[in-house]
Amino acid sequence: MTDFTIVNLFNINNFKEKEKLQNATNKLFNKLPIDFEEICDINRPILGRCVDTVLYRAVLLSLVKYLGFNALSKLYHAGVDFGKSLGVKSIDEMIECFESLRMGIPELVSKDPIKIHVYECAFCSGLPNVGKSVCYFERGVLTGCLEGILNKKVKVVESKCCANGYDYCEFKVYPINK
Ligand SMILES: [Zn+2]
Repeated sequence: MTDFTIVNLFNINNFKEKEKLQNATNKLFNKLPIDFEEICDINRPILGRCVDTVLYRAVLLSLVKYLGFNALSKLYHAGVDFGKSLGVKSIDEMIECFESLRMGIPELVSKDPIKIHVYECAFCSGLPNVGKSVCYFERGVLTGCLEGILNKKVKVVESKCCANGYDYCEFKVYPINK
């Protein structure tokens, strides 16, 4: 098979330069040229915009399986990125957004410190008790939203989860003082 990478086209001998160019090439070819703003137009006249929750869970689980080292952290950070892209301006807007995406039904149970309960979480609701909180992506989305709303860094901890014996997720929000 012909290899059309930049490295081969330029026939570079210096190893370091080769490596640098290879990384740049990988970046170029691995980047999906679709942004979050572009995923909202859905043309599915028969199936509509909703997909099965099982598929959502399968996508996240498959990613964890294949992302390798630090997979859960990567999933969390992907969630932060997505949360930021939502551009919500208030906690009410964030709750509305969460519900309209059917990620779950959030409820603000405390304002200071911020504590949010999420019922019917798309990822964990109904999962067996595995003894730990598992909603890394959702925690990331909340973090991204809240950092945008509060205009400061926060640490969000999932203190309760359906995969930890509860029937809702609980997220506690701590400001990071820098
Ligand atoms: Zn959970």
